[in-house]
Amino acid sequence: MIQLLDMLPDELDEWVQSLGQPRFRAKQIFTWLHKDRVDTIDAMTNLPQKFREQLKAIATVTTMKEVTRQVSTDGTVKWLWELYDGSTIETVLMRHDYGNSVCVSTQVGCRMGCTFCASTLGGLVRNLSAGEVVEQLWHVQRFLDESDERVSSCVLMGSGEPMENYDAAMKFVDIINNPDGLQIGARHITISTSGLVPAIRRLADEKRQITLAISLHATRDEIRSALMPINRRWGIDELLDSCHYYFKQTGRRISFEYALVGGQNDDLQHARELAGLLGNLDCHVNLIPVNYVPERNYTRTPKDQIRAFVNELNRLGVNATVRREKGHDIAAACGQLRAEQGRI
Ligand code: SAH
Repeated sequence: MIQLLDMLPDELDEWVQSLGQPRFRAKQIFTWLHKDRVDTIDAMTNLPQKFREQLKAIATVTTMKEVTRQVSTDGTVKWLWELYDGSTIETVLMRHDYGNSVCVSTQVGCRMGCTFCASTLGGLVRNLSAGEVVEQLWHVQRFLDESDERVSSCVLMGSGEPMENYDAAMKFVDIINNPDGLQIGARHITISTSGLVPAIRRLADEKRQITLAISLHATRDEIRSALMPINRRWGIDELLDSCHYYFKQTGRRISFEYALVGGQNDDLQHARELAGLLGNLDCHVNLIPVNYVPERNYTRTPKDQIRAFVNELNRLGVNATVRREKGHDIAAACGQLRAEQGRI
């Protein structure tokens, strides 16, 4: 089955012509899918009946089913979806004063092995297709349609390493960015990576306007390698070189995520080292007090120590804030997403 949500306008264009239809049918279909957000081919009423029958035999709008939908006391919503092959993934809607942000998954599971993260516990199952990533956002937008709201930004920060699924991730960006579709501006899309240096350089060369977030989490190679195995492949120096290159190519400010793990990377000396590392780079640091993952045994940094850490960074000229936690009560916070029914 062909998933219609997986197609870029150009691809739809070629495809409808290969089915013997005029090109304008492609635009009609794209609009039905992304602007009207109908979930059946039958609902595309300006397509000839015969063509609709032909489409129904070979294509589908949706491929996944909602298994659960949980709502947090802070308004965060988390979905667990079952995909066509029985795999499951999670998607999160966060409500901020500045708008609605959606966190999408890019892989079923993850193979990066970060020791503090739930998404990697069962390893990698498979990459998602662009259509499966689009469909997550599309379902959330349909949910928001009920209250006349819209998705204003999107983060590729759910389960998986988006840079390992680069082509699908970028195709997803192009589809949701399209003016005939959801029209989510590139600057409102953030891709987060554990640090795949060649992919960061590739993204830099493509000069896209999306925001790059780097999961840094440590200032010394021995600590980072213990927390994030990928650091043994590309160390901190190499990673930061690629960040400088990214800035040089795009002029875009980079976000760094730094999970404060009690007793491991959270004292003032680390804050000073972090300032030293990032000193001459235009960036913003998001500090995330490590979130609870039952299989792991990390402790959180006390509140006043977190404040001291931020103050030290700010004093040294680094732009840093503590990420407001969302959806902790429904295991929807950073690092808590997984490929199974959530556990807390
Ligand atoms: N694989 C990509 C995308 C996932 S983004 C990446 O690593 O960037 C998810 C973010 O949550 C990452 O910054 C990740 O390091 C962070 N994270 C994972 N587990 C966490 C935890 N238990 N507490 C806080 N942040 C966590």
